[in-house]
Amino acid sequence: GDEFAVIMCDIRGRHEVEALCREIVAAATTPFDVLGGQAMVGISIGIAIAPAAGLDRSELARKADIALYQAKRGGGLNFAFFSDDMSQAVRQRRELETDLGRALKSGTELDVVFQPRYAAEGLVLSGVEALLRWHHPRIGAISPYTFIGLAEDCGLINPLGDLVLRRACTATRAWDLEAVSVNVSAIQLRQGDFAERVLTLLDETGMQPGRLEFEITESTLIGGSDASARNLATLRAAGVKISLDDFGTGHSSLSYLMRLEVDRIKIDRSFVRAIGESAQSNSIVQAIVTMAHAVGVTVTAEGVETQEQQDFLVAIGCDHLQGYLLSPPLSALRMIEIIADKDARRAKSDIEAA
Ligand code: C2E
Ligand code: CA
Ligand code: CA
Repeated sequence: GDEFAVIMCDIRGRHEVEALCREIVAAATTPFDVLGGQAMVGISIGIAIAPAAGLDRSELARKADIALYQAKRGGGLNFAFFSDDMSQAVRQRRELETDLGRALKSGTELDVVFQPRYAAEGLVLSGVEALLRWHHPRIGAISPYTFIGLAEDCGLINPLGDLVLRRACTATRAWDLEAVSVNVSAIQLRQGDFAERVLTLLDETGMQPGRLEFEITESTLIGGSDASARNLATLRAAGVKISLDDFGTGHSSLSYLMRLEVDRIKIDRSFVRAIGESAQSNSIVQAIVTMAHAVGVTVTAEGVETQEQQDFLVAIGCDHLQGYLLSPPLSALRMIEIIADKDARRAKSDIEAA
């Protein structure tokens, strides 16, 4: 494939290995001309040194491979020396992958919770975001920040995504809400039959496409393949909404982002956190809202934690708010109570008005 091995003999220390690595990296990453443009290749190197890392050929190759994986992950230097904690980390990861596969089969350790989203006007409940939870029997609660990446690496993200979508639709189809948001990762969107499978699932669960919203990140939307673009087009044609998650955290300019075809943007919580810190950070949030509205896109602010942030966002006309100040993610049962309560209040005010 695209991997090469280098064997160095009679080395007098790590510095010699490092020097060779630097030379290889420099040579490989020198830009070159292709069809009138400049191109560059990236390279990563994993190193295992005998006899410390072993004396067996395949053992050394395996450990160099573990170090290579580390070098690819940990930005900065392009090379890494094998160490024992690396192989422990790899072992733990493998165990977790096996556990996740099991959790997926039984389904009992996995749970979908819902974080309410409120309309800024009158702070009425308008939608929910479905968020996955994993209660590991031995480790306890594991954050999606850890296990979604794991599921993406080991190919479990597709069945996991299906589980979330099915549970989210089944739980919420009867709730009187404008929209139910579900996060999807790039790998899911890349499957050739993703859109068809989603539409079948909507049909099976009785959820209207117009009430489902997919949250995708900037890199997924921009770096997507042809298959992703086809899926998005099919889903949008069926009425499914697309929301740009973690808005502003990628590398694109605001004006570029405003040209993407989405129904909603979610201002990342790093911007929300900065509200009140400087006149400049307030202006950025305000500019995002103004630009989005100019192109007909709805804006949600996520991670709203303080009254000051809420007041500011309401004042500048942000459409929806989501965050711990208003509500943490809740179980489906708790959501049902809240919705019943909202319906009761509405019925009461209808009676009073009549
Ligand atoms: P996200 O899409 O940005 O989701 C929002 C995260 O922020 C959630 O964390 C939520 O619990 C948390 N949050 C909500 N309000 C606040 C607040 O006021 N302050 C702070 N500091 N945090 C708040 P969670 O549930 O741990 O999810 C983490 C990430 O995992 C999500 O980030 C999303 O990218 C991913 N994720 C979660 N569920 C799924 C899923 O079903 N599929 C996929 N592909 N990704 C998922
Ligand atoms: Ca999200
Ligand atoms: Ca987000």
